[in-house]
Amino acid sequence: MAVDSGRIEAAIAEILAAIGEDAARPGLRSTPKRVAQAYTEFFAGVGVDPSAVLADSVASGGLGELVLLRDIEFRSICEHHLLPFLGAAHVAYVPGERIVGLGRLATVVATAAARPQLQEQLTEQIADAIQSGLAPQGVLVVVDAVHGCVTARGPRQTGSSTVTMASRGSLSDPVQRAGVLAMIGGPS
Ligand SMILES: [Zn+2]
Repeated sequence: MAVDSGRIEAAIAEILAAIGEDAARPGLRSTPKRVAQAYTEFFAGVGVDPSAVLADSVASGGLGELVLLRDIEFRSICEHHLLPFLGAAHVAYVPGERIVGLGRLATVVATAAARPQLQEQLTEQIADAIQSGLAPQGVLVVVDAVHGCVTARGPRQTGSSTVTMASRGSLSDPVQRAGVLAMIGGPS
């Protein structure tokens, strides 16, 4: 479903009025339209199945033990505060019958991120999409992100990042998982 820009513009004008601002002053006059454009981009993944781009996977022909795509940059919006969180996802899978172009893995991440999200939920949704789209032997997803709602409000922690992990199949095994985490260079 397409984002309804007109409703966003009206809602943003209402928020500006609610904080006591003059939504008609020159600096704010175009703000509702700008926010509507930004939200259209931020939320383009609402209602989109992130595994859909894996439909053009091809037979693996027995190729490869482990595929690891590191440092897939993403931005998302936290569903509790509608503030951005930004970071990198690392996606590893051990192929089964199917493999896919590496760019498709980045698209899975971008699609799952383009909706109101929680980092834990994003991590699980990426793992589930790869599991359902490729039926691999194992999947490991690590997400490392900095949250606007942590750095910009409340108890400001400008230097803190959050790491979450989801694993499926053979990469749920602690020994195999530790090997991949060492390659990622993240937590172990
Ligand atoms: Zn938040």
